[in-house]
Amino acid sequence: MARYANVIVDISMEKLDKTFQYRIPEEIRERVTEGMQVRVPFGNGTRTLTGYVVELTDICEFEPSRIKELSEIVEKGMPLEGQLIALAKWMRRTYGGTMNQALKTVLPVRKKVQEKTRKRLIRKISTDEAKKYLELFERKHQTARLRLLAALMDTPELDYRLVSEQLHLSAPTVKKLEEMGILEIETVMVFRNPVRPSELVPHPFDLTDSQQWIVNDVMRRTDIKDMRPSLLHGVTGSGKTAVYLELIAEVLKQGKEAIVLIPEIALTFQTALRFYKRFGDLVSIINSRLSAGERYDQFERARRGEVQVMIGPRSALFTPFQNLGIIVIDEEHESSYKSETVPRYHARETAIQRAGMTGAFVFMGSATPSVESYEKACGGVYCLYKLERRIYGQALPTVEIVDLRRELKQGNRSILSVRLRELMKERLDRGQQMMLFLNRRGYAGFVSCRACGHVLKCPHCDVSLSLHMGGRMVCHYCGYEEQAGRECPSCGSHYIGAFRAGTQQVVEIVGKEFPEARILRMDMDTTKNKDGHEKILEAFSEGRADILVGTQMIVKGHDFPGVTLVGVLAADLSLYTGDYRASERTFQLLTQAAGRAGRGKEEGTAVVQTYSPDHYSIEAAAAQNYGMFFEKEQSYRRLMEYPPAAHLLAVYLSYKDKNGLEIGACRLKECLLQQVDDREIGVIGPADAYVAKLNDIYRKVVYLKHKDVEKLLRVKGEIELLFQQDACLQRLNIQFDLDPMNGF
Ligand code: ADP
Ligand code: ZN
Ligand code: ZN
Repeated sequence: MARYANVIVDISMEKLDKTFQYRIPEEIRERVTEGMQVRVPFGNGTRTLTGYVVELTDICEFEPSRIKELSEIVEKGMPLEGQLIALAKWMRRTYGGTMNQALKTVLPVRKKVQEKTRKRLIRKISTDEAKKYLELFERKHQTARLRLLAALMDTPELDYRLVSEQLHLSAPTVKKLEEMGILEIETVMVFRNPVRPSELVPHPFDLTDSQQWIVNDVMRRTDIKDMRPSLLHGVTGSGKTAVYLELIAEVLKQGKEAIVLIPEIALTFQTALRFYKRFGDLVSIINSRLSAGERYDQFERARRGEVQVMIGPRSALFTPFQNLGIIVIDEEHESSYKSETVPRYHARETAIQRAGMTGAFVFMGSATPSVESYEKACGGVYCLYKLERRIYGQALPTVEIVDLRRELKQGNRSILSVRLRELMKERLDRGQQMMLFLNRRGYAGFVSCRACGHVLKCPHCDVSLSLHMGGRMVCHYCGYEEQAGRECPSCGSHYIGAFRAGTQQVVEIVGKEFPEARILRMDMDTTKNKDGHEKILEAFSEGRADILVGTQMIVKGHDFPGVTLVGVLAADLSLYTGDYRASERTFQLLTQAAGRAGRGKEEGTAVVQTYSPDHYSIEAAAAQNYGMFFEKEQSYRRLMEYPPAAHLLAVYLSYKDKNGLEIGACRLKECLLQQVDDREIGVIGPADAYVAKLNDIYRKVVYLKHKDVEKLLRVKGEIELLFQQDACLQRLNIQFDLDPMNGF
């Protein structure tokens, strides 16, 4: 039982780091827990304030004689903030970092927000009149106006924020329609009365039997308190979102609230509108472009019960709902659910933790579930549901694999295979659109043979080696190194080297090949400025280009009915990124990419170019066969003891001095080998990080591997202590990453 409590007295302020330490009187020591509200003496002892216990400890941070005693426990159950503090505590323990970092992640920071008004757009004209305008706008190619009016056709009243952010419409467009008398802009105070659940709009259609069965079964399970998380595996267009909507409606009926996590990049207007149409003003949507103040504002509305459905990326998970009933996680496999800043939490695991603390249930969905989740679902840890057919029975696109080794043999050294070029020409002639996808991931290039497809891999880790300066090939797990040779160790060919191609080069090459084609490029460079992303997508969706060339950004969540061809230029780019998730990522990307083709009336084709046509992730994606992929991937993970077969704890080290970092990393490994008396814990590395140097700071990684996550967390605690005490380690920056997803 800890003797001291660190208490924050005002959680709403920006200075969360201001904790005060108190001694806990013996008689209540047993009952004090983190997150609990307590009364403490303050100032010179004349005042008593209410605060929250954020940490219990035996280490006295002050002179023991001067430390004051905590007065009493506030007996009124765990308040919402307390729950979130307890969640922060769990996150800190699981993912590392300081308590303060965890608290800042979980508790929204209050910033002065001005009294705000909210605008609504109201359609002023009848449906018939609107139809005439629709035709007019279409004829004049006034696409922005067309989009706005089309949205108002279905829903005569729309939230201005939703329209501008999700439909990407500018103020002049709205103004113009107002001037034309088509709509009216109504200004209301922000905190208006919510609609009551009884006023909810019912579904425009009945659920199919399979959809309804899932909803019923989940609700039945909550009745009998079977709170296992659910995983819905359903191909795109199989009606997963409709199931989420129905479950949320059920939860609202019980007077509870809902959080919906959607990867930001997939949160399109169509998706937002479906929630908005169903739940009206009860819905709020947050995204990363909101300022801290605006986000706080939305959270505050949630706390007051004015919003009951919060939709957003990862951070929406911390919406302060008093009575949370469900957490939906769409596209459960997405790597953006893992935070890239400390604490590096996984939103899925954290959601399950939060749900467990509050009696809510977690419902996840994906067309390509993560290996982790699917394994849990097969093992009964999660409850597995399936939707195997598309609602309207549309066919999935045809996927053709092109063997780039054969292209080379036939003398074609271009990045466009004969087949892809032929199909591109055909589509251009027909005036149809296409996307060329460069599934580039990570930073370092891998080395492969263009004649036989052989990829240089680490002999210990079965991941590809990454090419570094001076021709060194490095394994980012164990640090193994070898010098890149001049010929292929497998077939002796000289066509061996690092595979590098950028979107810009692709645009140049395609431009030369098809001078008449209109080409757009979308990648990190072209989307740097605010709205860059939207502008490109908008231009493409309005048919102002024939070919969209881009990185993964182009394949997520966007619906372009005009696209009938998708070309994956080199599937190998995501297949050999030097980490154990490469095959999984490739399968997901290819499945998604292929899914972009043929959304409209015309059938779609996807062409996947690769040097590894026999690789299971490519074969399975081409066959649209998740089960086949999963089985192969699971056995690979088991063989190599990668997650989920075991847990991997990455220790990221960084320091300004290369030598000092090397010494520190070796010192850490040495200490670990001594201290880890448990022989089963594997200590791997140190190795250079993917980005071995960033802003003049050097970076290295050490991995720990074990089946039992608790054991790893215990070692993590020991490492934290070590870093406080050891002179050689103290100066290094350290971060933890449990079951890493994004690389370092
Ligand atoms: P997913 O989320 O799996 O991609 P959606 O829920 O978006 O699938 O459904 C795909 C399309 O089918 C949507 O346009 C949706 O409105 C429609 N849809 C879903 N369920 C039904 C149903 N039971 N009856 C008719 N249409 C449906
Ligand atoms: Zn070869
Ligand atoms: Zn290795």
